[in-house]
Amino acid sequence: MANPKQKRVVVAIDGPAGAGKSTIAKRLADRLGFTYIDTGAMYRAVALWALRRNVDPADSHRMEQLALAAEIELSPGHIQLNGEDVTEAIRRPEVSSGASKVAVIPGVRRAMVAKQRAIGERASVVMEGRDIGTVVFPDAQVKVFLDADAAERVRRRLLEARAAGQEISREGLAAQMKERDERDSTRADAPLAQAPDAVYLDSTRLGIEEVEEAILKIVRARVTNGKELN
Ligand code: C5P
Repeated sequence: MANPKQKRVVVAIDGPAGAGKSTIAKRLADRLGFTYIDTGAMYRAVALWALRRNVDPADSHRMEQLALAAEIELSPGHIQLNGEDVTEAIRRPEVSSGASKVAVIPGVRRAMVAKQRAIGERASVVMEGRDIGTVVFPDAQVKVFLDADAAERVRRRLLEARAAGQEISREGLAAQMKERDERDSTRADAPLAQAPDAVYLDSTRLGIEEVEEAILKIVRARVTNGKELN
């Protein structure tokens, strides 16, 4: 699908934490030959910088300055902040909470959305986050709202955290995810929400391949007139 004459395509995947967005978005990008963009990683990078510099995430003015100054580079499987590889550092629990606090600030969102749009204007992308289909690319050709039961989302995140060597209890993680999802869904600016034209997919009882195939079907129907992409 890397035909430069073709219009660039945006596949937008939004949903709450642990719904399977990253896993699915990465696989889809691979299948389609598109660039995978994890927008949550960008908010996490800004939060990490704030934590390191002791900037209060509630200080909108300084947070906006940090977000504008942050040099964030995404490459397959890695994220760099100001030239440093922070791929693992941004996955720490305190950064997860910090990200959802800084993501409330309109100036921080403006800075991140500008970076995300610039990437999507250069290449076809599978972009995942909370506001991709609603705010970042409201004209995306494919929009999916990926969801799962809260207990299943906690179970998946717990497996990931333990695999990464983090010691966290199920209860602690569940409480943290609930708080984060509430903050993300109730903020005034670009809250987590399903775009009216997004397809709702509940992945609770679906395997990764099933979710991937379901989304590929939508891509084929909307982008390639039913043809296979590869
Ligand atoms: O997707 P992930 O869990 O890594 O995102 C971390 C946080 O970044 C989310 O809880 C949310 O507050 C914020 N975020 C956002 N908008 C996006 C992506 C992430 O507000 N498009």
